[in-house]
Amino acid sequence: MSEIIKVQKGTKDILPQDIAVWHKMEAAALEIFTRAGYKEIRTPIFEATELFQRGVGDTTDIVNKEMYTFEKSERSLTLRPENTAGVVRSYIENGMHKLSAPVKLWYKGPMFRYERPQAGRQRQFHQVGIEMFGIKEPSADAEVILLALNYLKQLGLPNLSVELNTLGCAKCRKEFRALLIETLRPHYEKLCEDCKARFEKNPLRLLDCKNESCKAIFALPEIQQVIQSDFTCPDCSLHFEQLKSYLDNLNVNYKINKLLVRGLDYYNRTVFEIKSENLGSQNAVCGGGRYDTLVEQLGGEPTPAIGWAMGMERLAALLPEINNDKLDIYVVSDNKLETLKLVERLRALNYNVDFDMAGKKFVKQLEKAAKTAHFAIILGEDEINGEYLTLKNLKTAEQTQFPLTNLSDFESRTYKFISTNSSEWIQSKLSMLASGFGM
Ligand code: ATP
Ligand code: MG
Repeated sequence: MSEIIKVQKGTKDILPQDIAVWHKMEAAALEIFTRAGYKEIRTPIFEATELFQRGVGDTTDIVNKEMYTFEKSERSLTLRPENTAGVVRSYIENGMHKLSAPVKLWYKGPMFRYERPQAGRQRQFHQVGIEMFGIKEPSADAEVILLALNYLKQLGLPNLSVELNTLGCAKCRKEFRALLIETLRPHYEKLCEDCKARFEKNPLRLLDCKNESCKAIFALPEIQQVIQSDFTCPDCSLHFEQLKSYLDNLNVNYKINKLLVRGLDYYNRTVFEIKSENLGSQNAVCGGGRYDTLVEQLGGEPTPAIGWAMGMERLAALLPEINNDKLDIYVVSDNKLETLKLVERLRALNYNVDFDMAGKKFVKQLEKAAKTAHFAIILGEDEINGEYLTLKNLKTAEQTQFPLTNLSDFESRTYKFISTNSSEWIQSKLSMLASGFGM
């Protein structure tokens, strides 16, 4: 026997028994974002490496350590580690700035980061996210945060906590940066290598460090005093106050976290995260913020923008398993031609129907029906000769006969049935079937 080839470290199959929860996350995204005027965009999974170097920033872990980069035809390409840069590229390339603002886009799909795999951290993972272009007012910030919460609510996760901060603009951050560098300098030698590397280039990012000894330094009173101070200019300050006031008036619970700076270089003003206490150390479900300079940085017209991304594996870990994968009907018969004819008719009526193809004995087929379906239709010799079928409710074991010739009546009564994936759907389908067959 040949050696088995295994799935790569940090990647996972999403198996058929787990797929229902993914369908639920995807369906909820389409529903909630469409309702708020967002349109889906699908950008390629690989892009020019330079897009991420310029668009995510060369002081980030993503660009420094985590990118899957490869050469093809003398071009450097990278599997997307996140999707904001790709969406911005597409926005610029397709002239979307000519559309009336705001331009609202959403996406879902796999992302790739070369990280140490652990619970809640994979090398191929999935994100669902939104981006809004063209609005600098804080009402946009409020809307995107509300949309994240509405999406989580739709999934049955209404109680996650929002953390909020403002990074100000390049102008007001300048003084804060200088002050932070000055107060941290005496502790330079005790910082981790990552923090040392970022010290001059992007000192704000230090606050994001997860290293315990660095965290202890940031907790020192003289450093806390700097971190907690309000450094924002009047414009940035007003923006943040207005956002908080919108959220307060809409009864959104949030916490100000001055250490929240987010991993990416492009953010300005509003940054936020949504966390769950039930996820252990990788507890961030959603991360987002405003990135008013990115479009210009990537060659577009100056365009304010804001967005967020959620990790779908982390969402899936919070959601209950869904087991509604039973068929509506399993046809039990030895006559393949009559079975195929019946199965065709039932599938055309939107019923999920299957039958035996392995040549199993009648009793075995019935056993399979009991395991995999809500109803069995028995099409034995008697039934075929007498032109009727036997319908068996596999839950109650009730049985009834139904003339095959009257199936058209059954068809017309059930034709308009629209399928969804909820348990109510199963229930209503069952009663529909029952009444269709006069049970
Ligand atoms: P973290 O602090 O967990 O590394 P991040 O700041 O790198 O997160 P973002 O780039 O903001 O993450 O991505 C948004 C969301 O995507 C995160 O909140 C998380 O839910 C998810 N995510 C990020 N990296 C991974 C990963 N390697 N595996 C699974 N989910 C991830
Ligand atoms: Mg990360």
